[in-house]
Amino acid sequence: MEKPLTQHIKNDNTWLSLKDYEKTGGYQALRKALKLNPEDVTKEVKESGLKGRGGAGFSTGMKWGFVPLGEDVPTPKYFVVNGDEMEPGSFKDRLLLEGNPHQLLEGMIIGAYAIQAQFAYVFLRWAYHQAARAITRAIEEAYEAGYLGKNIAGSDFQLDASLHVSVGRYMCGEETGLLNALEGKRANPRSKPPFPGVSGLFGKPTVVNNVETLCNVPHIIANGAGWFKSLSKTDEGGTKIYGASGRVKKPGLWELPLGVSLREILQEHAGGMQDDFQFKGVLPGGGSTDFLTGDHMDVTMDYAGVGKAGSRLGTGTLIVLDDKTCPVGMVLNLERFFAQESCGWCTPCREGLPWTAKTLEAIENGKGEMKDLDILNFQTRYMSPGNTYCALAPGAMEPLQSALKYFKEDFEKHIHEHKCPWKKE
Ligand code: NAD
Repeated sequence: MEKPLTQHIKNDNTWLSLKDYEKTGGYQALRKALKLNPEDVTKEVKESGLKGRGGAGFSTGMKWGFVPLGEDVPTPKYFVVNGDEMEPGSFKDRLLLEGNPHQLLEGMIIGAYAIQAQFAYVFLRWAYHQAARAITRAIEEAYEAGYLGKNIAGSDFQLDASLHVSVGRYMCGEETGLLNALEGKRANPRSKPPFPGVSGLFGKPTVVNNVETLCNVPHIIANGAGWFKSLSKTDEGGTKIYGASGRVKKPGLWELPLGVSLREILQEHAGGMQDDFQFKGVLPGGGSTDFLTGDHMDVTMDYAGVGKAGSRLGTGTLIVLDDKTCPVGMVLNLERFFAQESCGWCTPCREGLPWTAKTLEAIENGKGEMKDLDILNFQTRYMSPGNTYCALAPGAMEPLQSALKYFKEDFEKHIHEHKCPWKKE
């Protein structure tokens, strides 16, 4: 198989049918996996270095390895695809779902085999109607072809799968909120540990993996862990779907080796800034990551590289801030979103996010005071990891804390001039 590099992924409202997917070698990796021990499938994925592409970057093989195997383990076990893509600025899973649903299903079935699950769910963002159609049809086709149901591809393995469409809250994408939603409950997060691998859906061992993560799995099994690792420019294995939105010449998505530089994505693939717009900063991995600036152009866009620069790779979809957009307004917009999406389960998030949004609103409207900057800085500490039940509020604090650091003068200008300098009179 050729290296899947630098292909521009098109949204042409058609998806690859089972027949066409099989013509490209589709489901051969599943046939190969079914001849291996489940432990060996997990080992291959672990050795490939594949990390969760939903944003957190946890080792996929390690996660599968936490699920108990053998006779005397709790059953049924569940395998869940997290397709509830709601991170602001992220749209990479959507095109994978809409373009090649069987690639995802093949990864899901291989994962389910590795943990010996009996049921699989594709948990989908409510707004992804085209993806829902694609997945529904792909599941039907997979049953008809014997890739789901009993005796999958002539083996002893059995798996049933269905699509679950989310009710449309950001919290439903947090894996334990998602599990509660699947159980028909309110999508509050659960405390971890126990992690889902031990106690997940209906209290049974469960793996939850992101769409892009699973789309890598058939290729790892088909070509081996070494091949996957060699695709990357750094020690971290594989490719990544990077994206860019904002005032760039060619917004879009590109599959590139993990570890390309921020400069390469912005200049070569996104085409640089549009005429009359200057680069001011970028959220490298969706709304809940820290800003990077022009000083970070040589940062390698892998988990370690972006981490060293003080941010996170997150979903790898860049939100570009230009000089004609107010950074305070941009952060306010994000904080309003996070405040609205808070489930209200823990106090720092429930109370802290609306207060943060209100404080930013005052600054943006020229009614802020210098002490508001102290309040905002306090909030970033108050909602830091460990102080809240899940990652929502700490994630929400990332664009804010970095904006306060890199765009401090812009915040102060709003306060001193009693108006937003970007707003026309
Ligand atoms: P996390 O780091 O707590 O966990 C990541 C994964 O690793 C989970 O599946 C978790 O169960 C597993 N894990 C972590 N430590 C473990 C351990 N000790 N033992 C067993 N399993 C362990 O992160 P999270 O709260 O699941 O996710 C937060 C991330 O989600 C953020 O980085 C954010 O960027 C991302 N996010 C993405 C979207 C999207 O639309 N793609 C939306 C919201 C948030």
